Amino acid sequence: MLNIALDGPGGAGKSTIAKAVAARLGIVYVDTGALYRTIGLHVRRRNADPSDCAAVEALLPEISLEIRYEDGGQQVYLNGTCVGDAIRTPEMSHYASAVSVHPPVRAFLLETQRKIARENSVIMDGRDIGTVILPDAQVKIFVTASPECRAERRWRELVAKGIDTTLEAVLTEMNERDARDAGRELAPTAAAEDALLFDNTGFDLAQSVAFVLGVVAGKTGILPPRG
Ligand code: C5P
Repeated sequence: MLNIALDGPGGAGKSTIAKAVAARLGIVYVDTGALYRTIGLHVRRRNADPSDCAAVEALLPEISLEIRYEDGGQQVYLNGTCVGDAIRTPEMSHYASAVSVHPPVRAFLLETQRKIARENSVIMDGRDIGTVILPDAQVKIFVTASPECRAERRWRELVAKGIDTTLEAVLTEMNERDARDAGRELAPTAAAEDALLFDNTGFDLAQSVAFVLGVVAGKTGILPPRG
């Protein structure tokens, strides 16, 4: 199986790049942030405090997660119901980041992620894929861009989804979330020692995709099919 790990902070373009690379190579794209967001959604619905580790841990046995691929996209099912865009709000970004700090949450999601990568060729995006989830991935890339560039991309995505917010609010929320994700004790956002650093500030999608495909070809000899 081909395993590609794409890590980096929010708004670095990981998911857009990974989706396009997966389509070109005919492999599965796994958005691991969606799993943390879904746990955050359940915690929110149960009115629990996402920063309270014991309270969050107590809710985990109630949660059954399933990833399905529908119309070429990943959907997460929470206890049999598709969460859809309910996990894509700024509030759920905050909840995801808050619950992802807790060791029981990370342990809960570990095997789900590894199983998909054992059974499929994948490009998986997240924060700790190259360091913790798939340490043996053949290709590891750590994607970054300037904070302004990342905030603008995230803001555009939210506006396109009809979410009313400002660039300043997105930048503030993103900086706060990145600091927590990179500063946490367990599995912080980090580049694996053998990861390639890719700063894509100013790159458009086609350039970023070409870069990643070039790295994949260089490391594995795998090229996208023609056409
Ligand atoms: O990538 P996305 O912004 O959807 O991730 C939401 C949150 O989930 C991140 O801010 C981070 O706290 C958490 N996360 C994580 N490890 C991953 C993916 C996401 O801790 N592999």
